[in-house]
Amino acid sequence: MSDDDGALAPGTVRWGELLAEAVGQLAAAGVAAADAEGRWIVEEVTGLDGAELVLGLDEPATARGVARLDALVARRVAGEPIQYVLGHWSFRHLDLLCDRRVLIPRPETEQVVEVALGELDRVLVGRPAGHRPVAVDLGTGSGAIALAVATERPGTDVWAVDRSADALAVARANLAGLGMAGTRVRLAEGSWFEGVPAELRGHVDLVVTNPPYVAASEELPASVADWEPVSALVPGPSGLEAYRAVLAEVRSWLAPGGAFVAEIGADQGAAVAALAEAAGLTGVRVLADHAGLDRTLVAVGPG
Ligand code: GLN
Repeated sequence: MSDDDGALAPGTVRWGELLAEAVGQLAAAGVAAADAEGRWIVEEVTGLDGAELVLGLDEPATARGVARLDALVARRVAGEPIQYVLGHWSFRHLDLLCDRRVLIPRPETEQVVEVALGELDRVLVGRPAGHRPVAVDLGTGSGAIALAVATERPGTDVWAVDRSADALAVARANLAGLGMAGTRVRLAEGSWFEGVPAELRGHVDLVVTNPPYVAASEELPASVADWEPVSALVPGPSGLEAYRAVLAEVRSWLAPGGAFVAEIGADQGAAVAALAEAAGLTGVRVLADHAGLDRTLVAVGPG
């Protein structure tokens, strides 16, 4: 406890000093954004953020807090991605729990959602009044895409499918965090369309997916390869296996004029577009992300 003149009892340390120490340890370990990440970790441990933290830095740290801070800094220093260390990360307006059971939510995927929402809006223009929109997110992982669609287009029935029970457990926790906004989301275990109830065949307004798309031969940065689930990254030797599986069936699940939106790897535009056309989809387009790289494939089901 601090006494009246602000001095600390012997053996006590302020959060501000611990923050400086953490930033030093992160920088020494080669973490490029050491200042920001140190602050996020201290925010996580203290429960204070932004302006509150500025005031909190003068406060004495608790023994428990120090132990937790040390543990989180040690994990980051060992190379674990900051998103897993913190245990949550922002995706559009959501704050999603994430751990090693699921891919880290990425900014490129936020753009895929933007495209998917635009497509859903376009599809719904042609639907009769009172139509209840249906969207399916295949390989939902943390639930990022499904939960963004559900919250940004309320009234849509959203099916979030994953064949990994571990991933679905994370999605379930994220869904629970939405409260009322999540009441129209259903989680289903299964490989691609196997997880979708048969009666939805021919009635889906939007199929959206961020499947594994990294070729087995591709070198990934260690921060990805050593930490993120390989089953969410690599579908097989070519990197196209998941698109083949999904596109083989998508036509029969889409409602007339329904949209298919998929995240793709930067060099996969032509290959996935060809697969989509071969699958009987029309209006196939490949859109670039903010970095100028091909990232989203859009296609339309038979009219
Ligand atoms: N964008 C991810 C990466 O390259 C891959 C995501 C995925 O396979 N769906 O690390």
